[in-house]
Amino acid sequence: MKKTLAHFRTWFKFLLLATLAAFFIVGAITFFYKPVYSVTLGDELIGYSENKSALQERINQYIEKGNGENVAFVEIGELPEYKLCFSKKDIVTNDEEIFNKVIEQGTTYYKYYAITVDSEEKYYVSSFEEAEQVINDLKEKNSSNKDRLGMLEKYEVELKEFTSVETCVASLYEKPVVKTRTTTTKKSSGSSSAGIYATGSNTTTAKVNIGISFIRPTSGVLTSRYGARWGRGHAGIDIGAARGTPIKAAASGTVTYSQYGYNGGYGNYLIISHGNGVQTVYGHCNTLIATTGQKVSQGQTIATVGNTGNSTGNHLHFEVRVNGVTQNPLNYVSY
Ligand SMILES: [Zn+2]
Repeated sequence: MKKTLAHFRTWFKFLLLATLAAFFIVGAITFFYKPVYSVTLGDELIGYSENKSALQERINQYIEKGNGENVAFVEIGELPEYKLCFSKKDIVTNDEEIFNKVIEQGTTYYKYYAITVDSEEKYYVSSFEEAEQVINDLKEKNSSNKDRLGMLEKYEVELKEFTSVETCVASLYEKPVVKTRTTTTKKSSGSSSAGIYATGSNTTTAKVNIGISFIRPTSGVLTSRYGARWGRGHAGIDIGAARGTPIKAAASGTVTYSQYGYNGGYGNYLIISHGNGVQTVYGHCNTLIATTGQKVSQGQTIATVGNTGNSTGNHLHFEVRVNGVTQNPLNYVSY
């Protein structure tokens, strides 16, 4: 019995000493050293990190989203490996540098949509909704190429320049070829832009005498001109003005369209018919005051300036159309 007790005492003493020694050693280590992760990429040591999980989380997020719009995913050749080690306290950790080295070897894939005519990619838009809108708008307008239109989901390493829905629709629209219309449009000849209008595009820069004098539809500054360049055009002019600024009828006439909601690139918009095939269009409105069928007089407030539809700021998109052919509004109003 006594012998067992003595044995236990010795054993206990030893345990106590061992524990103390362990504490001392751990204390010494944590005083001079700290736990860090050495990070290797392939076989190359690329640095040290104190916070492995935060670093890896950041890398994961980058792989998922990249940094920027339209990124579909990022392909990373190799992921870093971490190894726990104790290093002297003054060791420099370099999470930022590690992160950059890891993503440097990544390939970013962008996702966007191509609008195609006869399977040929014509324009690029950012989202599926925009692509759908371009095609729907052209179908609604009964564009003669409506059955040859398509969209293509693209995954590319390079990001293309995007075109607005409004511009896509205006540029791709082709007049239905049901019957030949006698047009009052003068043919533009010889100039570099002649080709654009020769094949039934619905825009022109030639001045047509409409026999009506327009007034400015709203006060504000001209922010975008009318025009076609290599077949891409802006169907009207943009006048930047504060939200809520009154929009006035450029001339008297009948409102033939006034609708809120999902109306393609124009947002809430309104069309006034002035007779003799002359129409004016007022797009991106905040509120619509005149209603379809209403007769309006020149200068009457018909809507207010807004930022609806495909628009990136408060402005009025103003179009002048003669027999469905857009004209340069600056031929009729000055800004
Ligand atoms: Zn515009």
